[in-house]
Amino acid sequence: MAASSLIDIGGNTNEAGGPRQSDLDKCVHCGLCLNACPTYRELGVEMDSPRGRIYQMNQVANGAPISADYIRHMELCLACRGCETACPSGVPYGHLIEAAREQIEQQRKRSLPVRLFRSFLLRKLIPSRGLLTAAGMGLYLYQASGFQRLLRAGGLLNLFGPLGSIEALSPNAEFPFFFPKIGRTFPADGERKYRVAFLAGCIANIAFARLNEATVRVLQKNGCEVVVPADQSCCGALAVHQGMKDEGRRLARINIDAVDLDEFDAVITNAAGCGSTLKEYRHLLEQDAAYRDTAAAFVAKMRDITEFLAAIGLRGGMRPLNVSVTYQDSCHLAHGQKISAAPRKLLRSLPGVTFREMPAADVCCGSAGVYNLVEHEMADQLLRHKMESIATTKAEVIVTANPGCMLQLEAGARLYGEGQRVLHVVQLIDEAYRPIV
Ligand code: SF4
Ligand code: SF4
Repeated sequence: MAASSLIDIGGNTNEAGGPRQSDLDKCVHCGLCLNACPTYRELGVEMDSPRGRIYQMNQVANGAPISADYIRHMELCLACRGCETACPSGVPYGHLIEAAREQIEQQRKRSLPVRLFRSFLLRKLIPSRGLLTAAGMGLYLYQASGFQRLLRAGGLLNLFGPLGSIEALSPNAEFPFFFPKIGRTFPADGERKYRVAFLAGCIANIAFARLNEATVRVLQKNGCEVVVPADQSCCGALAVHQGMKDEGRRLARINIDAVDLDEFDAVITNAAGCGSTLKEYRHLLEQDAAYRDTAAAFVAKMRDITEFLAAIGLRGGMRPLNVSVTYQDSCHLAHGQKISAAPRKLLRSLPGVTFREMPAADVCCGSAGVYNLVEHEMADQLLRHKMESIATTKAEVIVTANPGCMLQLEAGARLYGEGQRVLHVVQLIDEAYRPIV
């Protein structure tokens, strides 16, 4: 491939807003990433493999138009970064696909209603506690009133086409929400050994309120005073993955300002997808002289909950759980943050847990942020294969490390599995600390 005449600038992009040529040039076309790529495994199509996508990005960087075909191949990518782990040449594929999508987003002509909806969703609803609470209450009433059960049982949702499929993946609104706990401090159980800041996410405050509570409890049990910073916001992952980096940067600055780093030993998240973006803040704010250094300091203290707990070691006082467990790697933990040993170490250390590794545990389950909503067919195909893989372990509980993966796996257990329980690592630890009632 001839070198592009476009000049690389900071923040992953060249001067035309596409992927940096220096990043593209790291690919030596060896194909060692192909078998790690879920879309290539499903379709066997080169242009839906990492190598094929990089080839197409190169063509665009060299003047080819951004065609509908190009957009389609980029959209079908899960951004799971399995290829990054497999690549021996250090190709920063996550940066490449982010930049490619940002460039597409800048050039594509969406209809006004679609633009307004996306903008409202990503710039207004998700970062707003008030609007999310109102939406969460609506969802809670829909579910608690029995209306959802009625629609599902009567098959009426099928009348709504893709909306019906999306509804099947909608999370449960967990009332009371976690939002009122933002701004509070939770003391350590016993002697305080650490002081940590907990970033509670955005939608998770509604759909994973119990997970957030379990996270705080487990940290307390392990000698942490837990502060939930009052001024925190959404991490920006959804915006960044949808090609709205400006919004991602805005949210990054809010979160950095919300945490007084000198006061904390670590900043914790329980969502691998968020953690992956939170650890990219330095990169995201590379061009921002006012924030670049603070962003680097923020990233240095950022820890996934499994990473932090495995490093400090779990305190004793747990009861035997007597359960068989398998672990699904969350892509943004295993590939985005290169953390796969820590959650396994924690699970194996729990009393009464029989750990059974599934084949291809690090291949995406099809969740991938909002991928399962917008690419339902491929996500469903991946989920069915994932459930087959899980079935070989005969495990009673499927454990993972990201709320989005939990939703996808819950749907899998319901639709294609044996109704297995799906838990976050921290929820199983929390159960072990809870006395039998
Ligand atoms: S990010 Fe995932 S889906 Fe996309 S090319 Fe890489 S392995 Fe394939
Ligand atoms: S991305 Fe890496 S593994 Fe894949 S073809 Fe390029 S150099 Fe090889």
